[in-house]
Amino acid sequence: MSGTPDEAFLRLALAEAHLARERGEDPFGAVIVRAGQVVAQAGSRELETGDPLAHAEAVAIRAACQAPETLTLRGCTLYSSTEPCVMCSGALKWAGIDRVVFSVPQSELQTISSGLLKPSCAALVNTGNRRIDTKSNKTQRVLASGASVKKHGAAEVEGYSGAVSEYPGIGATPYEVVESLLLAEGLAILAGHRFLSKAQRYDARKR
Ligand SMILES: [Zn+2]
Repeated sequence: MSGTPDEAFLRLALAEAHLARERGEDPFGAVIVRAGQVVAQAGSRELETGDPLAHAEAVAIRAACQAPETLTLRGCTLYSSTEPCVMCSGALKWAGIDRVVFSVPQSELQTISSGLLKPSCAALVNTGNRRIDTKSNKTQRVLASGASVKKHGAAEVEGYSGAVSEYPGIGATPYEVVESLLLAEGLAILAGHRFLSKAQRYDARKR
């Protein structure tokens, strides 16, 4: 397999998307990598499991946490065939994944599936008005104007009154989102797929 490590792992996610499509699911796949090793890979399993939450990224996050019995995936990169949706962007934020690489952006997906444009993953994982700088143990409140207010020690984060160190992995790392890598390969997997209502397809397969 040629290309950069990011390309190699993203191709694994694209292969999972292809397998999902062959199973009759929507063609989405995800891979989670820690220290250069794949710790989980999955395709969409919504129809198979009767679970509308079983997106590829969510299935992979669960698998990556279950074997080592951990609730944090800090240091992990999630590779996704398509830009993570609103739910999965929330899931990867709460799991503490600090890097995301995807092929097809939501804007392209919505064009293909005739859906409405959704918020971007980058906007969702970096949402809110806070960044926590773990190196200086200071909390930096980022104001809408771009100006910032720095506070020492215990976090002065809206909605949270504990110390920063009690809440590792949540917002502690700047998220890196790499977009539209291997875009042509990602689009090829979506080409010709009919994005029907999941409820209709799930009901149809029970008959
Ligand atoms: Zn999702």
